[in-house]
Amino acid sequence: NHIGNGDSMMTNGNGNVQQQQRQRVCIIGAGAAGLCALRHLNMRPDCFELTAFEQDDNIGGTWKFTEHVGMTPDGLPVHSSMYKNLHTNLPMEIMGYPDFPAKTNHSYVHHSVVMNYLVQYAKTFDLYRFIHFNHRIMYICRENNEWLVTVKDVRKRQEFQQIFDIILICTGRYSVPQWPKYDTIKNFKGKMLHSHDYRQPEDYIGERIAVIGGGLSGVDISQECSRKCKEVIFVNNGQMRFQNMYPNVQQVDVKVEEFTENSMLARDKDGNLIEYPVDTIIMATGYVYNLKFVDPSVGIKMNPDGTIDGLYRHLINIENPSMALFAVSNRVLPLPLYHQQLLYLMKILLGEYKLPSKKVMILDSEEDYRQRLARGLRPKDRHTLEVEMMEKYLDKLAEESKTKPLRKVIIKLHRDLYSVRKMDISNYKRFDYRLISDDEYVAIDKHTDM
Ligand code: FAD
Repeated sequence: NHIGNGDSMMTNGNGNVQQQQRQRVCIIGAGAAGLCALRHLNMRPDCFELTAFEQDDNIGGTWKFTEHVGMTPDGLPVHSSMYKNLHTNLPMEIMGYPDFPAKTNHSYVHHSVVMNYLVQYAKTFDLYRFIHFNHRIMYICRENNEWLVTVKDVRKRQEFQQIFDIILICTGRYSVPQWPKYDTIKNFKGKMLHSHDYRQPEDYIGERIAVIGGGLSGVDISQECSRKCKEVIFVNNGQMRFQNMYPNVQQVDVKVEEFTENSMLARDKDGNLIEYPVDTIIMATGYVYNLKFVDPSVGIKMNPDGTIDGLYRHLINIENPSMALFAVSNRVLPLPLYHQQLLYLMKILLGEYKLPSKKVMILDSEEDYRQRLARGLRPKDRHTLEVEMMEKYLDKLAEESKTKPLRKVIIKLHRDLYSVRKMDISNYKRFDYRLISDDEYVAIDKHTDM
């Protein structure tokens, strides 16, 4: 009962469902991706019977801030990595779903505004009625050409099984910490945490701290902690050097090698070993995609570096195309990407666009990987999209499935922001943006223009 890859079980190719029963769709997670999936599939209630399972008691995923770290009162690992003061690192004008413009006064907003935006989206499209809250997916396997899903009602502590035709995995990619491996990590007697458990700078008043990891979390946490800390050592050996950081942030391009009771030892480019005495170490070292609940027999495989084998377009399970995984790619515009992927997927599910054969999908995925390596990307960047690659990727999805492409102005502003952010990490949020046409925007400097 595969979807859209030439098998005619589901539609007659004109979008009319031949089977008497609607396709039973299981959506796992009610964050931004799960809500987007519900919103699109719900447009064809004649074709799809929708069931969403969310382990939490509310929608929002990442954007549902909690002060808890570790386990929730229900005994689940805390999902959200959100911290108290976080403001978005993207303007809402390009961050939101393209078909649901955010109505905010400013471009960069507090996380609670994004949460409210998702609530409005869910209410507007009447999505709550499909979601079973406090239900966690424990296991998925393939049996008799169907998906057998084991679900746990976390409040009642009871498990049950249910069968589906289509599985959409919308469980996010910023929840399970990726810890670096160091033999001496246990030597350190100060506080050590992953950015997943970071909540507020007030926890480190007057301290000298190290933040390891040059991604957006690393730089943001360094900047906000510098307001309360004596000094922040921001270890950034990535390609992006940030300029104009706060004065008590020392951005260092060193390789951390070991830890003592109260310090971190790192080697600089000249080979010198430097000791940094610190009170706290925050590992902003990224996250791993969680596929623990998926039986290996379904056809996709997680590699030790966090990449996934067996995916077409970083989305569809090649072996069993009735399964799709969202949030596989990083460095993207998540909500517009989900929207575009859903438009593409809908066409496939409705039989209006036919996936190529399995062989072609495998070759395409191998070629995509080969091209990345040829561009100098690392094997672990197998699903990274970034600006230019994301633009090509989105164009391809829209072109092939003949769906409405994303407005060019969104991609353009996203691209421009990379350099704006890099050049002035302390002040880039002073701009508000207005999209004035399909390829033009204006930037308003709140410090000077108002
Ligand atoms: P999530 O929001 O993580 O949602 C996944 C959902 O699945 C959760 O509700 C979870 O409870 C549920 N779930 C997980 N496992 C199971 C299971 N087994 N069974 C049932 N339910 C399950 N993006 C931006 O565009 N702009 C920003 O400024 C921005 N800032 C960010 C800051 C931080 C600190 C982080 C961590 C991320 C940020 N992001 C930002 C990225 C953000 O994650 C995405 O915007 C988006 O919210 C991801 O949505 P998602 O649905 O893929 O995942």
